[in-house]
Amino acid sequence: MKTINTSIELEKAITLERKQGKTIGFVPTMGALHKGHYALLQKAREACDCVVCSIFVNPTQFNNSDDLKKYPRKIEKDIAFIDSLCDIIFLPSVEEMYPFPPTDTYDFGDLDKVMEGAFRPGHFNGVAMVVRRFFDMVKPDRAYFGKKDYQQAAIIKKLVGLKNYPIHIELVDTVRESDGLAFSSRNSLLSIEKRKEAPFIYQTLSQAEAFINNKQPQEIKQWVINRFKSNPHFELEYVEVVDAENLHILERIDPSRKGVICLAAWLDNVRLIDNIEFNN
Ligand code: AMP
Repeated sequence: MKTINTSIELEKAITLERKQGKTIGFVPTMGALHKGHYALLQKAREACDCVVCSIFVNPTQFNNSDDLKKYPRKIEKDIAFIDSLCDIIFLPSVEEMYPFPPTDTYDFGDLDKVMEGAFRPGHFNGVAMVVRRFFDMVKPDRAYFGKKDYQQAAIIKKLVGLKNYPIHIELVDTVRESDGLAFSSRNSLLSIEKRKEAPFIYQTLSQAEAFINNKQPQEIKQWVINRFKSNPHFELEYVEVVDAENLHILERIDPSRKGVICLAAWLDNVRLIDNIEFNN
């Protein structure tokens, strides 16, 4: 496993791999790695000859400077955790990723008008900025993203279409703790006491999903809102029942189309997101 800090070194290393006819799999992360990231890397390892993982806390996707400041950083531990799954770990600085103040803007149509896009203005533009730079440097055959960040995955697919990247985007199911909480780097920010409350999120989503065949989206949404209102530990930011492809908010459930219930909620000043698919 090689650790690389600059784009020049990275491009050299990738060219070498390519010369040997190797396929490249890429997993972008912001570090504080956990079993969710591990699952992405395992998928990449199975399908690709050379696995590249980036660890970079991307400032352009944070719309809240406090959130950026307190985002967990555990670089030594991260490297040891993924050592056996990775050929190249790319650890660029902010200056390396953004040598000039970034100005690129992207038109994702309706995709970023709801949920994370609506509550975190500029977030997906920042995600697209950094992923585009990574794609241009790594030029992977395959790139791996988690369904945990469902809307982000849709945005990345759109970006690949907009820029005509010859990259296969592979989506990986959400990996959860034994009590149902989705693994997230932010979980480490929860106090021991509040961590005990966190399974409520997935319990609520699972119960909501069970209503899909006998309630309409608005009723399901209201049920989730009421349930969160009755729990003093949480503040629900949004819940939406959306089409799995275009993320349009659903008026009715069509049993022939896949959908997803997505939410964001605050617990202990930590913002957690999760989702559950239906008609899958
Ligand atoms: P992050 O480091 O949070 O930016 O996440 C890097 C990648 O890992 C993204 O594609 C996420 O969707 C994915 N990911 C994060 N948490 C999980 C999880 N619990 N299960 C599967 N994938 C995840």
